Amino acid sequence: MVGTTAQTLRPFLWRAAKLYPDREIVSRTHEGIDRTTYAAYDRRVAQLANALDGVGIDDGERVATFCWNHTRHFETYFAVPSRGSQLHTINPLLPDHHVKYIVENAADRLLFVDPSLVEKLEGAAAEADGAFDTVERFVVMGSDVPETSLDPVVDYESFVGGHAETYDWPALDDETPAGMCYTSGTTGKPKGVEYSQGMMWAHTMGILPEAGLDFRADSVVMPVVPMFHVMAWGFPYATTAAGAKHVYPGPAPDPADLARLIETEGVTFSAGVPTVWLGLLEYLEENEADLSSLERVAIGGAAAPKSLVRTYEEEYDVQVVHAWGMTETSPVAAVAHLKPGMESLPPERRDEKRVKQGLVLPGLEFKVMSDEGEVPWDGEQFGELWIRGPWVTTEYFRRPDANETDFADGWLKTGDVVTVDPDGYIQIVDRATDVIKSGGEWISSQELENAIMAHDDVVEATVIGVPHEKWQERPVAFVVPREGVGEGPLRSDIADLLEGDYPTWWVPDDVVYIDAVPKTATGKFDKKVLREEYADHDVDDVPEGAAPDDD
Ligand code: AMP
Repeated sequence: MVGTTAQTLRPFLWRAAKLYPDREIVSRTHEGIDRTTYAAYDRRVAQLANALDGVGIDDGERVATFCWNHTRHFETYFAVPSRGSQLHTINPLLPDHHVKYIVENAADRLLFVDPSLVEKLEGAAAEADGAFDTVERFVVMGSDVPETSLDPVVDYESFVGGHAETYDWPALDDETPAGMCYTSGTTGKPKGVEYSQGMMWAHTMGILPEAGLDFRADSVVMPVVPMFHVMAWGFPYATTAAGAKHVYPGPAPDPADLARLIETEGVTFSAGVPTVWLGLLEYLEENEADLSSLERVAIGGAAAPKSLVRTYEEEYDVQVVHAWGMTETSPVAAVAHLKPGMESLPPERRDEKRVKQGLVLPGLEFKVMSDEGEVPWDGEQFGELWIRGPWVTTEYFRRPDANETDFADGWLKTGDVVTVDPDGYIQIVDRATDVIKSGGEWISSQELENAIMAHDDVVEATVIGVPHEKWQERPVAFVVPREGVGEGPLRSDIADLLEGDYPTWWVPDDVVYIDAVPKTATGKFDKKVLREEYADHDVDDVPEGAAPDDD
């Protein structure tokens, strides 16, 4: 065989620690700014790997995190996979019963948790009668342990401290499972996606160069996209591969925190969902901040509005790079770069390209499929986007039902309905399923509908996402009440009912009373009709008591 070295993550850090030992890794924490270097980080990663050996985590076993973006979380990013175990990042914004399902489905043995998320994790553990079936140990990301029912529990510094600062890293092959993330995009239970060493290596090499997202040794990179979202879009790995400086915004950062970090750390490149960048703009309208170091922001997870792209460019000289991807594609798969010659197009024509979901990355292939077969690249005919390549998954974890429906002949059927223009730019025009994405996070309309219809005074109900400037989409419930039932009490009843089982941000912003849910010829709920009718529905101006404020 020609070329015998496997494609794995460890060499990225080996190189960074050797070539850029003093380059910084900076993190906002509750206590202030934490500052380290690649050389010191590499030693801590070895200590953590030794600590995991110490508690008997074997090859292929899963270690989970329930954490925001910070250096300790980043330590798990290299330590866990490079020793042959699998890093499972869990989204703490999910409903408790989803977290419980995910932890147990993945059979996580050890779980790292942020101090500020301990209470949320206790809520999920309560769903499992107080203790998850598989978790043997909790490690709190700090130097002490808050009062908690999680058991047994130890603080991170005690867990890692005292262990050797070198590690005999094993030779792994490309197929060794390295990462894992669940997606709640479609109906039914969250689906696990596993990332092998080879997939993560290939994704890193895919986003590293200019045709990807362009990471350079002199970049200062701040991923605002959470590290529990598909490994922060792979940014921590690509930043390391480039030898660039890392800046982590810490627990629940607000726009003021982001502005301060950009200013003080000289951030050149950042990434997050549109809501983050809209929030920062709002902040900048009222407050002074020096963004002059910031050259580019990658926006993805939801469509970047044209006005946002324009404002960053014209008022702050920051280039917006619009990217598309999904949990199943590791995640970055397309970026809306301009092709040579397009820079000189009139701004309006240029922006049209830049707000599309973009050009597929080198290494991947896609096609657009309708019932009649493959759809031509004419910018008009649409179909479902199918994609395949070295960092696109070919199956879900233990989900034969979903594997049956979501894959065909080695292609991933994305569920995104798209057109492709003659220049090859993909544009999403619809979604095949009716899930709602609010601020980059999924809300299952079906789960909400089932919960609302369980109310005795509800005859039928449906939930749709309506467009929203800040959150992209927000849920609105349409309810047919039983005859004679007063609207006011039912409204607050529904909010109470949902708040018991779902995070506040899942609760519909408005409950609208209708006489009947529109139906298709086959008797199914026809949400299209409601989506069209309520496309301009203003959920920021809804009656008192309809639902708690999402802000
Ligand atoms: P997730 O698996 O949570 O990352 O969600 C993936 C889905 O988010 C995609 O299938 C799209 O529906 C949506 N999405 C991701 N990026 C974009 C984007 N740039 N524009 C519009 N929708 C996007």
